[in-house]
Amino acid sequence: MRLLRAATDVLARAADLLWPPACAACDALGEEPFCAACADTLLPTPSGCPACGAPADEALLPALRPRRCPACRAQAPPYASARAPYLHGGALAEAIHRLKYEGRLELARPLGVLFAGCEPPRADAVAPLPLHASRLRERGYDQAFLLAAQAAHRFALPLLPLLRRVRPTRQQVGLDRKRRAHNLTGAFRALPRASGLRVCLIDDVLTTGATAAEGARALLAAGAAGVEVRTLARAP
Ligand SMILES: [Zn+2]
Ligand SMILES: [Zn+2]
Repeated sequence: MRLLRAATDVLARAADLLWPPACAACDALGEEPFCAACADTLLPTPSGCPACGAPADEALLPALRPRRCPACRAQAPPYASARAPYLHGGALAEAIHRLKYEGRLELARPLGVLFAGCEPPRADAVAPLPLHASRLRERGYDQAFLLAAQAAHRFALPLLPLLRRVRPTRQQVGLDRKRRAHNLTGAFRALPRASGLRVCLIDDVLTTGATAAEGARALLAAGAAGVEVRTLARAP
């Protein structure tokens, strides 16, 4: 055990040499995940809908009785809750963009620290919302998997890749809510192993929640006992 810990320490120090602590958005050395100037641009997610987490208009929020947002009242999402520590914007949006599109996979580790600011899920395992194999080949890595590994560490839960993306989908960007849902129907399949488990799904950003909802539906269809969603950021 002691040898293992010593080896882990050596690896951690080697990682510090390769990637010294630096801001995930602007590379300023010394602080992570963000330098003071970039940290100033982070907007903690205000309280809101107990189901999907959509920020509520504070003026309309009845103080002690949180109510579901109109969308969740019209149709309850298949997941029990979706939470993110920050709104998507500023330095966090820049850092996520670098992680996803600029090959900066080493940023998953410092960004994973942000999950500590999230309400911990009631779950038995953490699973990423995976990319389709064709996009994984293009990109070479799956940022949701890297973030899920960090979240599993933060939440002290096992990391289980329980979902497969069984068909490629169009980029969700530019599609309205209805088209997003249609674009994703049947996009995921869950492993039989999900049966009986409470699963915490991890992704980088929650936009309309359509992707997370489709992943949750696949898990529930495979017999999962419940699904919660955690992301680094959510659309304001
Ligand atoms: Zn910075
Ligand atoms: Zn809601």
